[in-house]
Amino acid sequence: MDARLRDEAVGLMRDLVRVDSSNPPGRETPAALVVKAYLEANGVACELVARDPDRANVVARLPGRGTGPSLALLGHTDVVPADAVDWTHPPFDAHLDDAGFVWGRGTCDMKNELATRCVVIAELARTGFAPAGDLLLISQADEEDGTDVVGMPWLLAERPDLRCDYAIDEGGGVRLELADGRVVYTLQVGEKATLPATVTALGEAGHASIPTMGRNAVPLLAELIRRLDAHATRRRLVPAIRGMVEALGVDPDRDLAAVAAEVAALHPAFALEIDALLGITIAPTLLTGSSARNVLPGRASVGVDCRILPGDTEADLERELAEALGDDIPHEVRLDQGITGGTESPLGTPLHAALAGAVETLEPGAVLVPQLSTGFTDAAFVRQAFGTVAYGFWPVVSTPLDVYEGGMHNRDERIHVDDLGTAVALQLDVVRRLLG
Ligand SMILES: [Zn+2]
Repeated sequence: MDARLRDEAVGLMRDLVRVDSSNPPGRETPAALVVKAYLEANGVACELVARDPDRANVVARLPGRGTGPSLALLGHTDVVPADAVDWTHPPFDAHLDDAGFVWGRGTCDMKNELATRCVVIAELARTGFAPAGDLLLISQADEEDGTDVVGMPWLLAERPDLRCDYAIDEGGGVRLELADGRVVYTLQVGEKATLPATVTALGEAGHASIPTMGRNAVPLLAELIRRLDAHATRRRLVPAIRGMVEALGVDPDRDLAAVAAEVAALHPAFALEIDALLGITIAPTLLTGSSARNVLPGRASVGVDCRILPGDTEADLERELAEALGDDIPHEVRLDQGITGGTESPLGTPLHAALAGAVETLEPGAVLVPQLSTGFTDAAFVRQAFGTVAYGFWPVVSTPLDVYEGGMHNRDERIHVDDLGTAVALQLDVVRRLLG
């Protein structure tokens, strides 16, 4: 690690954290201007691209020699809101403590990553690096909310020249020590898709003073919810999770319950997620019953958060819901909107190899383990728009895992400064391997 580059990235991250870009409402332009000023001061050509002048995106480019692939480094400027009363240090002060942690909203998600990516492209420009293909830096607004369509989906539609072969975004890079002593780093290669549904129990309205009058839909719904909660969905291995299982040294071609148990035993982080990565998940969350306490409703419904695997269809979810609900209680199932997300980049690409090589340099013997996110990142838009191979990777080594994950979208978000130094060094290595 180069202490000078670490401190440069820490300084830029602290400048970004001090700009409150909480979304909603966003207003990311002041953060975009911090990025632009830094890049231009270091000789990187840069432009703001905005649909809404208060919510600018940043695009920078180090032109390639034209002989190789292009790579985009991504980083959103918005953050989720923070309530200062909950925090040990104010969330927009970027306080640096004696132990080397910078506290503040966005220090893990993802002004840390953005700052290191800016330093990477700046350092390459300063040292006269001429990439084989274009090296892009895209810093987009509105990742956390997305309702206004001013960030990545708008930007990519507006600017087809941002087409790139490879991209690195947020998500993976977490260092895990397995139960058997091996060390792995996660590589996020895709995400599950959301496909929200509503299940409505159909009864018959009546006066609540005589509950046997009519057929109260609420207890019917209660039984349907119990069935949804108890249902075990089919398990299958998508390519990313097959890659994960193989990278962990577990034989994937067996009963998947045994595979899941073996993976879960390797680390609590895998134990938490493995079931959700092997199938559709169904979580009943939003309740609607009668609009008046003294009326037995004829209809009662539950909004259900459903997440499907890449490649699953609406019919796959409908089949699982039908099996869960049975046919003895009258009900309706409605899919509320289409499939969102569910993209997956292939493994074994030159970017995968470059990251694996850089991880080996960082920590000899450590293994890169593919992973799917159960959430969503803007990498999905890049995969969908251009067929880009996009991975999430930013090494988290010096910040304890519970601190890192505990602060994400939560109080007391903080990052150790050495992780910024490690991230700059590793990403410089990746760029040189891929575009050198
Ligand atoms: Zn993020």
